[in-house]
Amino acid sequence: MNLILLGPPGTGKGTVAQEISSRYHLPHISTGDIFRQNIKNKTALGQEVESYLNKGDLVPDDLTNRLVEDRLNQEDVADGFILDGYPRTLDQARALAEILENKKAKLDVALNVYVPDEIILKRLAGRRVCESCGDTYNIYYKKPEVEGTCDTCGGKLIQREDDSEETVKNRLKTYEEKTAPLISYYEQENILKTVDNSASLDETLAQVKEVLD
Ligand code: ADP
Ligand code: ZN
Repeated sequence: MNLILLGPPGTGKGTVAQEISSRYHLPHISTGDIFRQNIKNKTALGQEVESYLNKGDLVPDDLTNRLVEDRLNQEDVADGFILDGYPRTLDQARALAEILENKKAKLDVALNVYVPDEIILKRLAGRRVCESCGDTYNIYYKKPEVEGTCDTCGGKLIQREDDSEETVKNRLKTYEEKTAPLISYYEQENILKTVDNSASLDETLAQVKEVLD
């Protein structure tokens, strides 16, 4: 099963993706995580993309497309994948279609994770990430067992630099301009499914199950 996840920042898309990944045994590919990992490790790619992430702007399409193409050519995705945070522009959606076509594969579902605007802001302000393993938490919605500490690995939980208020506003604006048009794009392809992630993660996952099984 080949899946992509759509939705503005702050819907809990990443958390939903992590859960789907473990339940359905699909490798979770998050372009945002890949970029942040490279920034942290000070790689050439990291240096190239850092300023875009800090401002909440999109990384240029050709760079992002090449990165995803490389990733999708690795062996572990032969039986399926879940892409989180890609595609984010129409150009990327077309590039993805071409990458898959070359592999004689196709997308099965574009899962749109919906949350009302008022909740989005609280989720972004409350988000914390493990600096060691990248697992995400939320001080309002998905608390770790011990405050400030990752349940999975015991690492320290921090706020992402691009979760600052100004950058968050820019990320939401960028989403509206560049990414929201993908909803009708995938609707036309007949693979768009929407789940509501404003209540509990369990309720969302029940909806996901209906859609995917
Ligand atoms: P969120 O969806 O919460 O904004 P992500 O982790 O998906 O967080 O992305 C963080 C940042 O990484 C984006 O603001 C952007 O700068 C960059 N990024 C991630 N995915 C893409 C993409 N597909 N195209 C361009 N830039 C991207
Ligand atoms: Zn951790």
